[in-house]
Amino acid sequence: MEKQPTILGIDLGTTNSLGAIMKDAGPEVIADADGESLVPSVIAFDSEGKVTVGTAARAHAVENPLATVFSIKRLMGRSLSDVREDLTHLPYAVVAGPRGSACVNVNGQVRAPQELSAIVLREIQSRAAAALGEQITRAVITVPAYFDDAQRHATREAGQLAGLEVLRIVNEPTAAALAYGLDRQTDATIAVYDLGGGTFDVSILHVSEGVFQVLSTNGDTRLGGDDFDRELIDLITGEIRERFGREITFGPATRQALRNFAEAAKIRLSQRETADVRIDLGDGRVYTRAITREEFEARIQSHVDHTLEHCRRALSDAKLTASEIDEVILVGGSTRIPLVRRAVEELFQRRPYTAIDPDRVVALGAAVQAGILAGRKRDTLLLDVTPLSLGIETLGGAMGKLIMRNSTIPRTATETFTTSVDGQTSVDINILQGERELAEDCRLLGKFQLTGIPPMPAGAPRIQVTFLIDANGILNVSAREERSGRAAAVQVTPAAGLTKEEIGRVVKESVRHARRDMTAHRLIDVRNESHRVLGAIDKALANAADILTDEQRRKLDAAVERVRTLMDTNDDPDELYRAMRDANDAAGPLTRYQMDEVLSKTFRGKSAKDLDPRIGTEE
Ligand code: AMP
Repeated sequence: MEKQPTILGIDLGTTNSLGAIMKDAGPEVIADADGESLVPSVIAFDSEGKVTVGTAARAHAVENPLATVFSIKRLMGRSLSDVREDLTHLPYAVVAGPRGSACVNVNGQVRAPQELSAIVLREIQSRAAAALGEQITRAVITVPAYFDDAQRHATREAGQLAGLEVLRIVNEPTAAALAYGLDRQTDATIAVYDLGGGTFDVSILHVSEGVFQVLSTNGDTRLGGDDFDRELIDLITGEIRERFGREITFGPATRQALRNFAEAAKIRLSQRETADVRIDLGDGRVYTRAITREEFEARIQSHVDHTLEHCRRALSDAKLTASEIDEVILVGGSTRIPLVRRAVEELFQRRPYTAIDPDRVVALGAAVQAGILAGRKRDTLLLDVTPLSLGIETLGGAMGKLIMRNSTIPRTATETFTTSVDGQTSVDINILQGERELAEDCRLLGKFQLTGIPPMPAGAPRIQVTFLIDANGILNVSAREERSGRAAAVQVTPAAGLTKEEIGRVVKESVRHARRDMTAHRLIDVRNESHRVLGAIDKALANAADILTDEQRRKLDAAVERVRTLMDTNDDPDELYRAMRDANDAAGPLTRYQMDEVLSKTFRGKSAKDLDPRIGTEE
């Protein structure tokens, strides 16, 4: 069969653009040689007319603001009067072009937004051509759902100028829903909340039998992550003036540096509770400050509330209530902010989809649409069962399966785990997929950390890990420490990147290695248990070593030593198990002594609850 030419899916964004294509294993973004997939939607012209695009162009923005064009999407298909409000925010010259259309005057030459966007599109096209080794001539391009006919038409023209046949213009929220496979829903209402760097929009969609309909859209084209950066910049500059004098001024280069600091701090606060800022103002003046997540959230709360207001309006325009929304999808880099996620979840009363990178989800969906247009069959086997087992890495590197392969979905499973070290305050949760017994032989789907566990003896915390795989095959993993209530969660797409062949290979491998894997898993279990037994013996010796006779002590030491040696060197679980049992037997007098102690304490009316008379295994 002759290979079909690839259709490129393109997310042509206000700040960043990127391309993706459909592969057998699903949609995949196109990266350049450095692995970078986002192309900043920035075009710079030098005095000789040389054009640079993307990251290189962005670097020009500070030194040559008049000849560096960004946010061109705001001008697409608009007249000069339409964009009056935007003009104050754009440093380059926006002028009236043919029929009053908004154009850009760069170094004396008037250029239409279509022409400028075509430069970005061509960059994406050539990256794809380089990555795939073929000429790309056809594309699907996404636009916001609120784009009118003129804006859509201009986007199509930009594609044509780049030498692309634009097979379809797709709404960005529709693309996001396609990336999550929601076109397979028979009848569902979906809210897509898209908060980027400079724009916010929310769309309410209805999907039925693969056909999407936009019920309403709402938003604010001047609200996004830049506002959050500005809040931090205001906080920092205010404090700098307070500390070092009101007369301090901030030149363009300093302001740019401050913006970078603020954005970095903001991004850090999506992961951590605090972010340290250190700014050297020269002359020995150094501003340092630890900004907490709480402080940051307080400062951006009103912006987030504003987005919720738009969501309520979109719902009311669609004549729906929040509870009638079946699925919520998050798009745009700023939806990584925990407060944003919480706010959206609260409003819609359901956990939003976050499993797919919010910066890439639209491009990936454009690639899915391209795949549909190319007549590719969707893999339907992923719909009703989990094709491979899902679990987490347990102590010692074993795969602890929570959901077995071929389980019907939706499905939920919970297991309780604990810590292995005294005073441990955080645990890493590695989410695995596969049939093998060792974590290293499985596929790592994602990971997260549960932090802030109060220090307790090893084994005391009760950490409940819950897997919930929903009807769309999206997996939510959450972990909660019961005493402190500390919780963390992550969402992943287990089916992403899997083909039928891959599933077959994984299953076959697991059969081939079954015996070796089982031994390896048992060895991990026995090692863990030996570790626990030795720890208990150490504790008991510290309390009551003097009750042992010399002979008993000698025997116990020898037995313990043998377990230690075998734990390091041996890979026969049965031998280690026997040694562990011998050590346990040799510790018998200690165990019995401790038992008696516990009993006598109980008789004296004291609680024995805190004492653990157990040493060793329960058989
Ligand atoms: P987009 O326009 O969708 O590419 O989103 C870009 C915006 O997302 C910028 O304001 C970024 O600073 C912001 N952003 C990216 N990653 C994070 C993060 N981890 N936490 C908070 N904001 C982020």
